[in-house]
Amino acid sequence: MQNAQYNNDDKSRGYIYSIIAKNYEINDDYDKAESNYKRALTHARSSKSQILETDLYNNLARIYTKHNITRIKGVEHYIKSYEFALKLNDTSRMIRPLLNLGEYYIKRNDFDSSYEYLRPARRLINEKSSSIVKTKLNGLLGRYFLSVRRYDKSEEYIDKAISYAQHETKNKENNDEQISTYYEELASAFETKSELYRKQKDYKNAYNYQKKQHENVLKSKDFKKLTELQRANIKYEVDVIGEKIKKAESEKKESESEVLKWRISIILGIILILISLAFLISSYRNNIQKKRLNNDLIDKNKELISAKETAEQVSTLKSQFISTVSHELRTPLYGVIGLTSLLMENPDQKKKTEYLESLKFSGDYLLALINDVLQLSKIETNEVKLEKVSFDIRTLIEGIVNSLRTKQKSNNNSVHINIDQNIDTTLLGDSVRLSQILINLIGNALKFTKNGNIWVNVYCVEHNEDSYVLRFVIKDDGIGIPKSKQDTIFDNFAQVKNDNQEYEGTGLGLAIVKKLIHLHDSEIQISSEEGKGSKFHFDLTYEKAVKQKEQSFQTGESLSIGTSNFNVLIVDDNKINQIVTQNILKKKGYTCNIASNGMDAIEMVKSEKFDLILMDINMPEMNGLEATKVIRTFNSNIPIIALTAVEEGEVRNQALSVGMNDVIIKPYDTQQFFQSIMRNISKVKMI
Ligand code: ADP
Repeated sequence: MQNAQYNNDDKSRGYIYSIIAKNYEINDDYDKAESNYKRALTHARSSKSQILETDLYNNLARIYTKHNITRIKGVEHYIKSYEFALKLNDTSRMIRPLLNLGEYYIKRNDFDSSYEYLRPARRLINEKSSSIVKTKLNGLLGRYFLSVRRYDKSEEYIDKAISYAQHETKNKENNDEQISTYYEELASAFETKSELYRKQKDYKNAYNYQKKQHENVLKSKDFKKLTELQRANIKYEVDVIGEKIKKAESEKKESESEVLKWRISIILGIILILISLAFLISSYRNNIQKKRLNNDLIDKNKELISAKETAEQVSTLKSQFISTVSHELRTPLYGVIGLTSLLMENPDQKKKTEYLESLKFSGDYLLALINDVLQLSKIETNEVKLEKVSFDIRTLIEGIVNSLRTKQKSNNNSVHINIDQNIDTTLLGDSVRLSQILINLIGNALKFTKNGNIWVNVYCVEHNEDSYVLRFVIKDDGIGIPKSKQDTIFDNFAQVKNDNQEYEGTGLGLAIVKKLIHLHDSEIQISSEEGKGSKFHFDLTYEKAVKQKEQSFQTGESLSIGTSNFNVLIVDDNKINQIVTQNILKKKGYTCNIASNGMDAIEMVKSEKFDLILMDINMPEMNGLEATKVIRTFNSNIPIIALTAVEEGEVRNQALSVGMNDVIIKPYDTQQFFQSIMRNISKVKMI
């Protein structure tokens, strides 16, 4: 009996110290809060009140985790609180430290650890769990999934938190403080949602949710009326304790001593003083918090506004780019149309040849421009990926110089190729991109040099068992580039204005070169002097390749099969293209038939014998891919080559998958055109 009374006293003391501690905690006096919680814990232990002990570990942990030096202790206390609750089999008390730990690690940006606690909390939670626990858990899970970029899941949890919280803000049974807490949770959920949209670059929604966050913070403040609530809260708890003390008093009636009375009145006195202190401090703290919050919101607003401005700038740049390109396209197109009308009107043969030359020039320019723009936009949208094929660097460079022979002759230049003897010339890398780089640089050197020299040098700067680092140097003794322009010539549409001469070009070549070299993780360097010449150099790394055997079908010309007897079916809906293709083929001695769409083509292949089909892809009624599929159901041998103006990368796989044998992109190089035709016909003939 004596023991029980003693225990009961201890329990009451435990509760009283716990309330005093909570008061200090509310008023941010964490040292005093800690010492009172500890005192309460000693009494809770003596009274063997495990529930109180569980709560006190959780409260002490909250204090400890506020400071860096004691935070480990804090985590240990949360775990103790969890273990006590586990022993008591008290699920709601188990969830509390788990949620606190989850929140603690989220605040420290240690998202993996936070999930270690949020996951078991999610398992423990059930329909009976309190709404605040459900709201908090969903909000924290939302923040966790945002951190691991699982945006869908994050939104799902945040929306749940919002829905619980919104429901509770309207629940009449909740008191003002509870409603205020739910508004706080709503504010935090909207903050996460704003962040979620900001990460997905949806700045408009990010801004809207940020506004909602702000609204809910204010609502929470309205409801809080902090001081009254604290007073009411403390009064309520004091009443409870008063009850307990009364109970203890009645049990100990006989042994009631003056000392106990004295103690109780001292404690009640302290509580009263604390209530008034709480009132003063909390109103002061309230002001500071409001200011801090306002500053935070102002900073975040600035961030969002600057993101919005960046997005607008990007969009303006894009429209500027499109308008420049359209202008550039319109100029040669105007030439093409104007010259065509002149040709139609003018009967003079000499003039006709002159106009035709200009027409060809405008056409070529237009094509070069479109190709360059497409290439640039592909690089800029990261669609260009480097490939690895084996190629012979000497053959590649000689091929490029040969293809530029006309340019070389027209300016009367000499080209000197010099490839380091130490390089085994078969390499592994992206030969197409290297060709594009070299064609642009050698092309420019030939264009801007008259009666001079161009040097194409390749040195080995570094090599090991598997790879070479090669330095490419393209040098000329042409007109050179003024120092002031050397930084800008790599920009889109940059051209150095020259008073004396007009040079053809799109102003995109060097921009493409620079970006292609970037793709290889390297940089292009330039040194040039006006009137003396220019030198461009860059280093690229290539793997060493095993030499491949010469392929048997290298060129169409080397094949021994004649061309005269071959019958080709041209499938194209465009009349002009029909005529162009037919004339090219006829000149080489082929016989041709024409179908204007896929349906006609199928009928003709059924009734006549052809050696090859040139199939356009985009046609009305039935396109080339569908027509090929049908033809393959009854004729698997006939070579079908796609002849199309669509970008090759986009169409090649599709074409091959429906049973086409090759793809030729219009406008094409005639030599390659015939090579492809011969290669495909000869494959069938040799079977
Ligand atoms: P373009 O199509 O005009 O040649 P580029 O981007 O290839 O466009 O080159 C941009 C400009 O840089 C050229 O218009 C020219 O003024 C200058 N440039 C490039 N290469 C040379 C060179 N080897 N010698 C002199 N000027 C050059």
